[in-house]
Amino acid sequence: MSTSIISYNKNQIKIKNLRKRFFAFSTLALLIIIAISFIAFGFHRDIIDQQKSIRKVNKLLLKQQSAIKQISTLGSFFDEDISDTEMEKMRAKVRFKVSKLKKATSELSSFILKSDSASIEDLETYLHQKSFKSNMKNYIQHVKKLLSDSSTSLEIKESIRYLSKDSADGDTEYLEELLSILDSEYKDGMKKLERVGILIILLCILEVFVVWFFLFRPLHSTVMNQNKQLLESALKVESAARSRTDFLANISHEIRTPMTAILGYAEVLQTDEKLDKDNVKKTVKIINQNATHLLSLLDEVLDVSKMESGKFEFLEQKVDLTNLLNEVYSLIHVKAREKKIDLNFNNTGNIPQFIMTDPKRLKQILFNIIGNAIKFTDTGSIDLEVYLETNKQLQFKISDTGCGIPKEKRELIFAPFEQAYTSANRQFSGTGLGLVLSRGLARKMGGDVQILSSELGKGTVFLITINPGEIGKHSLTSDFSTSVIKDESDYLEQDYNLSRKEILVVDDAKENARLFSIYLERAGAKVTILNDGYSVLELTQTKSFDLILLDLQMPGMDGYQVISELKKNGYSGHISALTAHAMAEEVEKTRKSGFDAHITKPIGSVELIKKVYSIIG
Ligand code: ADP
Repeated sequence: MSTSIISYNKNQIKIKNLRKRFFAFSTLALLIIIAISFIAFGFHRDIIDQQKSIRKVNKLLLKQQSAIKQISTLGSFFDEDISDTEMEKMRAKVRFKVSKLKKATSELSSFILKSDSASIEDLETYLHQKSFKSNMKNYIQHVKKLLSDSSTSLEIKESIRYLSKDSADGDTEYLEELLSILDSEYKDGMKKLERVGILIILLCILEVFVVWFFLFRPLHSTVMNQNKQLLESALKVESAARSRTDFLANISHEIRTPMTAILGYAEVLQTDEKLDKDNVKKTVKIINQNATHLLSLLDEVLDVSKMESGKFEFLEQKVDLTNLLNEVYSLIHVKAREKKIDLNFNNTGNIPQFIMTDPKRLKQILFNIIGNAIKFTDTGSIDLEVYLETNKQLQFKISDTGCGIPKEKRELIFAPFEQAYTSANRQFSGTGLGLVLSRGLARKMGGDVQILSSELGKGTVFLITINPGEIGKHSLTSDFSTSVIKDESDYLEQDYNLSRKEILVVDDAKENARLFSIYLERAGAKVTILNDGYSVLELTQTKSFDLILLDLQMPGMDGYQVISELKKNGYSGHISALTAHAMAEEVEKTRKSGFDAHITKPIGSVELIKKVYSIIG
């Protein structure tokens, strides 16, 4: 699964969790706010009730106070010297005021008795403590005496003094004190109310903060992340599309160039009857070179697609490092010689004689990197230095004196289809796949491909690292030299002699079968050609071969059916598949079906002879 899909799924899970969290928090917040509101409402109602009671008591106290004051004032006017009628008027006034006072007093005490407000209860205790009630009784007693006709003049005097001065003052003081208590109670209540208000505001702020911190902040960052990822993948898709278009343009150019040569020279061969033998040979050589180039292009495209789908396979085996480097050198030095560039292979310190690796893949990496070095260098030299790192990694340092790579392109060229010099100003051939493949392969082999340094116009140093597996001490060698392997055609006669070998080539493509028979006859083999499976079954009834080269895909009876019938008939000679199917699964399938080998087409004469020799030589 690609990383963008994984991170998209992760984001979806995050958003789902956030949604759940959002509902949980919202419900919790709602419950908290309802609970707080209830508490606050109850508290508020208590305080309002209290305020109401206080105001009522206040009013009653004020009434009482004013009645007392008025009675006291009236009391001071009582005199035994005033006329009876005046006295009667005064008494009527006092009586009226006293009835008001009594009413206010009883209203107050019945209100205090009924009220369940805490501060009013406090007030009652206070009234008891200060014996306000008994004072009030005394006061009224004195008033009664003042009002009574039977009172002696001494009693009236005493009542007047009592009402006009001490007691009135004292009671008014009590009442004032009470009023100030009520006032401070009122202020306390207001303060409490304010505090509850502040608490509710603080809780709301806390709720907003909690919602922001646990919900909106992660939600915001998730959404921003997703936006960023979407933007990145959109850019990637766009750049991939651009790279693919560039690639198609390049590859079509890459295919057309050798195809033009092949078709052109083939036409020359067909039409020009005056061509001498030498020129025919040269023309065929050019056709051969271009076809080989086409094939390697196809291989690269297939390899990259295999690597991208994770189907790359490695066949690790014990490999003689010196031999491998010699092979690489002998095949690639020709290109360097053509460009008049020196190609040197050296070692620093001891290097392992044998390593555990997939030789085909290691050669592929070396060919790519050294091939590039030759391609991008016009004068000077190319040096390969091989050494064993202290951490037991095997390194190949390839330095060239070529055109160099611009700084901004150094990472980019490791992406598929990317080249430092593209389209219009492109002066070098290639597909832009070599480095991707090489790095991918090296990483699979426990190493990497990196650019160590590069300077425009001066050259580049590439470093290939691989894990060479367990190396025994005795396998180290410093005796490393590269020698050019002799011309391949020399081998044919001396080392790969197939004389007296009987080979049956079976291929429905008659031209291919003819070509293979020509190749094999050059090595001395006696070749029979058949073009279908039925004839093979018929012929093998009477004749046995050293080797049958069997095509897999044939009309009628395919290669797998043929080998199965042959085995049933008890045929025991060597049989090898000779097929255009190069995938690992196909190789495995042929092995399981009983084939001794799997040879892939197209194949050159030398390689075919070598392969056949390795089976029956
Ligand atoms: P190709 O060579 O087929 O184009 P590669 O993936 O092998 O593809 O290389 C990608 C690009 O990296 C090349 O096109 C070239 O621009 C740059 N490059 C690779 N090796 C060198 C080198 N030794 N010197 C300069 N440029 C190089």
